Amino acid sequence: MSDPLQKQEIRLKGVPASPGIVSAPGFLFQKRELDVPMYFIQESGIDAELERFDNALLETRRQIQAIRSDIATHLGEDEAKIFDAHLLVLEDIALIGETHDEVRRSKYNVEFCFHQISQKYIEFFNNIDDEYLKERVNDIRDVTRRLLSNLLGHSEATIGRLPEIAAGCILISKDLHPSDTSALHSIGLKGIITDTGGATSHTAIMARSLELPAVVGLHNSSDLVGERDTVLVDGYEGIVVINPSEETLAEYDAFRRRKETVAAVFSSEIAEPGLSLDHQHIPLMINIEGVREAEQLERLQADGVGLFRTESILLKDNTMVPEAQQFEEYKAVIEAAKGRPIVFRTFDLGGDKLLAAAGQQGRESNPFMGLRAIRYSLRFPEVFKTQLRAILRSSAFGPIKIMYPMVSGLGELLEANRLLEAVKSELDSENVSYDRNIEVGSMIEIPSAAVMSDSIAEHCSFLSIGTNDLIQYLLAVDRTNDMISDLYEPYHPAVIRTIKQIVDGAHSKGVKVSVCGEMAGDPIFSSLLIGLGVDELSVAPSSYAEIKYLIRHLSVERARQMADESLQLCNPIRIYQILKAFHIEIFRDILH
Ligand code: PEP
Ligand code: MG
Repeated sequence: MSDPLQKQEIRLKGVPASPGIVSAPGFLFQKRELDVPMYFIQESGIDAELERFDNALLETRRQIQAIRSDIATHLGEDEAKIFDAHLLVLEDIALIGETHDEVRRSKYNVEFCFHQISQKYIEFFNNIDDEYLKERVNDIRDVTRRLLSNLLGHSEATIGRLPEIAAGCILISKDLHPSDTSALHSIGLKGIITDTGGATSHTAIMARSLELPAVVGLHNSSDLVGERDTVLVDGYEGIVVINPSEETLAEYDAFRRRKETVAAVFSSEIAEPGLSLDHQHIPLMINIEGVREAEQLERLQADGVGLFRTESILLKDNTMVPEAQQFEEYKAVIEAAKGRPIVFRTFDLGGDKLLAAAGQQGRESNPFMGLRAIRYSLRFPEVFKTQLRAILRSSAFGPIKIMYPMVSGLGELLEANRLLEAVKSELDSENVSYDRNIEVGSMIEIPSAAVMSDSIAEHCSFLSIGTNDLIQYLLAVDRTNDMISDLYEPYHPAVIRTIKQIVDGAHSKGVKVSVCGEMAGDPIFSSLLIGLGVDELSVAPSSYAEIKYLIRHLSVERARQMADESLQLCNPIRIYQILKAFHIEIFRDILH
């Protein structure tokens, strides 16, 4: 018999962002203004705290009245009436009185107390099956947000201060910024779902590197999930189930067990050499954000780090980090790598990685096409040189390379190299030791750089293709935009032909090419990359075992034939079918 208390199950389809299956209570991360701090107030400060609250109430009332009269003038009295309901919330004796009492009792700051109590009311009204009362929830939400934002002085909030009650929950949010995501693992979350974003948005990438199951691009999940509803996340298929039934939970349990069996097969070959069936060695590296992932090198027995996203150390606390601290962080990563080579990518700030401390937030209408990555570093040479100093100093402690992000042509590469030489001379004059033969490489992730890849290769020791950006710039599809995530096609013929052109350009100058974008970690595409002549792959730690298995079970010669066949085609779907068939051929034994 069905359980009358069981809430209705809702299934949503989004974009799979980080593999894994998990079910846990949802924790709604409200709009950024509602990121509420929590701290204690001294007994002597309680009256001042309550006065602050009363002033915010007055200011909120004044704002709502101003909006009301504006709407009445322009749209009419009927439309303006909705704001009467908002004003009533501000006069709600229970809400206000309880907040006062809670501040006196708990001695927590008033934002925190008010937020807790308003959430309680929201939950209460939400659970009543009455349309009128449900509407009240929206009124309370709106007013709460406005009042909190007044109390907080509109401060830009980060998720770093998420309350401990989020531990063990699935985080639900409209959007998440990489700086938010990088602070997540310390909170003990179980998974992430967001309304916006695509599979290669940096939030998705960070979720993968934190090994938190995630689904993005769900459009409206944050409106559908109630506070503390149970949420099941299937990060493999991009499915989210709100309030899953017993049958659904059992179905996913079986699915998870199947996935675990397959994962065990992949892991069983992790320590074996990365040799293909026809004895070709394909080095396999990992992408890291910091020391936490670098520590995994040992467990995975990876060949090294193909991409260290150094900007992560700034995004962690949303701040610029001085040379001494950068040096310590870099050295810790090198020590964790225990002699394995690491490619340090210089800061890739901008795009969806905006740093408040760098004055980047809210200044550009199109940040992905703006002052990003090497452009930012060259515009602010002191920031760049400080980083290069810290990297060079750390090079005395282990084998590392330097790589520049988002190079668009030769000019930027030469200018970056000029600054690097200047920093080396400074260190020489200070008698500071560093690796004098440090190799320098360039990412190829802008179409203009792809066209110029042979010329760029002449001034580099290696190239690394950033397919995440290359695809977005080549196809003009914003990698973070959930509205067009279906247009983001790694199997587009233009993408495949461009990768081939980059590989040929670099090889004509005797320079090796790796791929560190997410395409490298997707088994459907990694065989294609190998077939196109890519020399090395660098993948998220969570994909490592599967890609290692793939390398060991494919023939490079067969992959070349498959790539050649794909290069002849113009229809993306047809290309995808060929890739899929090749994948099934390799994985046949374990897929069944
Ligand atoms: C890429 O663009 O593919 C890449 C590896 O860099 P990021 O994802 O950090 O932009
Ligand atoms: Mg990139």
